[in-house]
Amino acid sequence: MIRITDILDNINEYNPDSDPDIIDRAYIFSARVHAGQVRLSGEPYLSHPLEVAHILTLMKLDNVSIAAGMLHDVIEDTHTTPEKIGELFGPEVLHIVSGVTKLSRLPFGSGRAREAESIRKMILAMADDIRVILIKLADRLHNMRTLQFHRSEGKKRKIARETLDIYAPIAARLGIYWIKNELENISFKYLEPEIFHQIEQQVARERKDREQYIETVREIIREKMAENQLKCEVLGRYKNFYSIHQKMLLQDLAFEDVYDIRAFRIILETIPQCYEALGLIHSIWKPIAQKFKDYIGVPKPNMYQSLHTTVIGPKGERVEIQIRTQEMDRVAKSGIAAHWSYKEGKRIDEEPATKQFVWIQNLVENQENFQDPNEFLENVRIDLFPDEVYVFTPQGQIKSLPKGATPVDFAYMIHTEVGNQCTGAKVDGRMVPLKYELRTGNSVEIITTKGSHPSKDWLNFVKTVKGRQKIRQWIKTQEKERSLSLGREMLEKAFRKYRMNFNALIKSEESDAVVSQFGFKTTEDLIASVGYGKITPLQIVRKFQPKVEEEPEESVLSKITGRLRNRKDREGVVVKGIDDILVRFAKCCQPVPGDPITGYITRGKGVTVHRTNCINALKMTPERQIEVEWNKGTAETYPVKIVVRSYDRMGLLADVAALISKSGANILNASTETHENKTVDSFFTLSVANTKQLKKVLSDLGKVSSVWEVKRLG
Ligand code: MN
Repeated sequence: MIRITDILDNINEYNPDSDPDIIDRAYIFSARVHAGQVRLSGEPYLSHPLEVAHILTLMKLDNVSIAAGMLHDVIEDTHTTPEKIGELFGPEVLHIVSGVTKLSRLPFGSGRAREAESIRKMILAMADDIRVILIKLADRLHNMRTLQFHRSEGKKRKIARETLDIYAPIAARLGIYWIKNELENISFKYLEPEIFHQIEQQVARERKDREQYIETVREIIREKMAENQLKCEVLGRYKNFYSIHQKMLLQDLAFEDVYDIRAFRIILETIPQCYEALGLIHSIWKPIAQKFKDYIGVPKPNMYQSLHTTVIGPKGERVEIQIRTQEMDRVAKSGIAAHWSYKEGKRIDEEPATKQFVWIQNLVENQENFQDPNEFLENVRIDLFPDEVYVFTPQGQIKSLPKGATPVDFAYMIHTEVGNQCTGAKVDGRMVPLKYELRTGNSVEIITTKGSHPSKDWLNFVKTVKGRQKIRQWIKTQEKERSLSLGREMLEKAFRKYRMNFNALIKSEESDAVVSQFGFKTTEDLIASVGYGKITPLQIVRKFQPKVEEEPEESVLSKITGRLRNRKDREGVVVKGIDDILVRFAKCCQPVPGDPITGYITRGKGVTVHRTNCINALKMTPERQIEVEWNKGTAETYPVKIVVRSYDRMGLLADVAALISKSGANILNASTETHENKTVDSFFTLSVANTKQLKKVLSDLGKVSSVWEVKRLG
């Protein structure tokens, strides 16, 4: 049990000049009025207000708040009157304690209107005095820590659900991430006990290895920083189980595939040091470009600041690294309270409106305009969770989706089959298009039709990872089936032409050898690849009947495209089995010799060459796909777009340009974008001969000082 001396010791560390008298008195009073009461845990009731006060000292709150924390339950749970509190501790403590008491009486739980009303009151309390909410969070945290003593399973789940839905997001919005994490983790344990224990065991199983791993990574970072005279602190930790689980759900991953479950934090003294450290980290490990976030240049609305980067770590796994200053770290730990703690004794509304309070103020000013609690709820949600929308199932359950999500995302969230067979949607009772952007508060009903299928067009608007994956998966299976029947048809026809029976031959003993000669495992794969256009039926005929002579095949293709010629453009590639065909290079992915490529037949326009992993190529129908390859002797050069991200400095562009021309590549076009945080993105269109040259250019540019990322676009 926490003792009063622990609390006083903490305060003494961050606020040594303050007078502890009010805390002593609150402690003695609280002990007296709660005397004889016990918690469900069997501990004296006093342990609860003490724990709450202790949590408040971790947020480095002022003495009035801590005294109020010590007294937060006395009006609710003892015979003490509000007047008595005012008389003994003054109006400020009374105001806060009354606020907490009012909130304790809020009816949470089922019912949208009631929930909306409760959140509304919370927000009002927050605006009135943010310390009411901070105490409420500390109170909830301790109650969650001791939730196991509740006897009713249903009650535990209800409290956990409410914590996850309301308290954890409020902690996040106020920037107090350690409380948010702990609330999420405990709630998760009660809501999904089996999954929680699975993850717990999986993490524990490899604990020893992992601990050693964390130590190794910390050591590498420390050394690198020391080499460069950067004084820093390096922390390593595991992400909380709840966020691991969220990741598994959202990205549809197995535990083994969630790699960035470890996170590291580097704490330095100044902002330039942070960027320098970032560059050093990127010089040891390759960053994953999309994962870089600069919250120093653009802080979160709750004032959180940090650089976030994810890199490919020493064992080829993803590692998340946060880089920040000590001051930023303090803000990240105490959130809104970090700004509060220096301002002992002052009410927030007396402070000039700083950024982090504006959203609360706006909500309060707006709340009078809402007649309907749902409408208010919608607005609160938008503010509490700027990147999410909350919608309801027809049964009134809340589902959260990323901003911009559509009924199709919703359908896949309910069930894969609901998604696959979804043909329409009703939002708030009215039919909407499938690409309708859902808004918080919408009631969504999905209309399914047995036997109907996902459409490729959905990929253009679906927002969730799960939705995209399921649609792609379906298309892939579908395309395989289609290619299989197309391939079979083409083969039967070709074999007939040579008086052979394809279906008999493919079941014969020879067939296995033929399949493996083409590098396939099964007959199906072989047939499908004919359907995809990767091999011609004639190539297979010849395996069974080597004497067959090649006849000039009059293909439909050459009829369509034979008259279109463009020598210059096509010199670089060869289209299998077809001469005299117009070849163009796709602008979207800008293939360069050396890239794996594939061709698509465009009616009347010949063949367009894409990189095989180009998103646009993946969307095209397999019937139009045709195999193409690079012509080895070509002397052409090809345009390719790259970006160089760096910290801005004198002479940077000159260094970069000199390096490019030294490598023999030409700059066709250049533009730069300078950001507020002194970083600059330089975009170049280069002309290069092949991927080898391109790779060299990219890796050379990566070594230019203050450049932290170079990559090809498209
Ligand atoms: Mn309490």
